[in-house]
Amino acid sequence: MLNLPNCPKCNSEYTYENGNLFVCPECAHEWTSESGNENGEDKKIIKDANGNILNDGDSVTVIKDLKVKGSSSSIKMGTKVKNIRLVDGDHDIDCKIDGFGAMKLKSEFVKKI
Ligand SMILES: [Zn+2]
Repeated sequence: MLNLPNCPKCNSEYTYENGNLFVCPECAHEWTSESGNENGEDKKIIKDANGNILNDGDSVTVIKDLKVKGSSSSIKMGTKVKNIRLVDGDHDIDCKIDGFGAMKLKSEFVKKI
């Protein structure tokens, strides 16, 4: 069952959907849903190694040593990473790590703090 919002103009509860518009039969007001895409297909849920949902701006720790491409050093297990940014792709976390600079990590190798 879809829960349709009341008309924002006259508060009628007899609104119906017409394509991606909501229509009020009482005052003929038409509007679009403010919540946008309710299927949530735009927003991928990214989880850490423990299954906690990660958000932009979270801090995480790295749970295993990670080799860095083009560098002889690696990111050590236990490294704290602040202010992550979630992105699309195989490496789904964009972040900056002291001593390494801008990096991309896989969410499966971090743990939310
Ligand atoms: Zn109305």
